[in-house]
Amino acid sequence: MIILLDNGHGFDTPGKQSPDGFFREYAYNRFLTAEIHERLTVLGIDSRFLVPEREDIPLPERCRRANAICEQFGSDQVILLSLHINAAGNGQQWMNARGWSCYTTRGETRADALASCLYEAAKTNLPGMRLRTDYSDGDPDQEENFYILRYSRCPAVLTENLFMDNLEDVAFLESLEGSMAIVNLHIEGILRFASKETTIPS
Ligand SMILES: [Zn+2]
Repeated sequence: MIILLDNGHGFDTPGKQSPDGFFREYAYNRFLTAEIHERLTVLGIDSRFLVPEREDIPLPERCRRANAICEQFGSDQVILLSLHINAAGNGQQWMNARGWSCYTTRGETRADALASCLYEAAKTNLPGMRLRTDYSDGDPDQEENFYILRYSRCPAVLTENLFMDNLEDVAFLESLEGSMAIVNLHIEGILRFASKETTIPS
């Protein structure tokens, strides 16, 4: 299985930072994907950066890259995780919303199984923190037809790793313990999903 890691935005994407400007989403997403890549490499799992560049890469190009890998290896052998940090306001002031969430497209696909594995891992790695869920269709993930999810041919999920306009969430993300909890939950979620998939040779 190939794990595609998408880091969401570029240094040139407007907004996407904490109200005080110190926390930049593009940089933190790159830190997370780099850590996850390193950990997966140690585990012998093939993971790749969808966007090695620093600048923003338009969504159609991100999906083209993902689909080229799906074409090459088979879309049932590839999964995509797009990592983001949430925001509740317009970036000008600190807000109250907190918590972790994972999105899939609407309807039931293999991405829902991946998202459920990530929620399980979030429960243990983010104890006492709010997990934002939508159980209306029987599983915990939130559903939104985000471009990257909709136009990638492999199972794809988008994680919103706490809020960059919440003071407590930002403090957690900037702590060693907090950042490792976010990394660990992705690793555990991926491993949990891989162990459940029958198509993956052991
Ligand atoms: Zn984002």
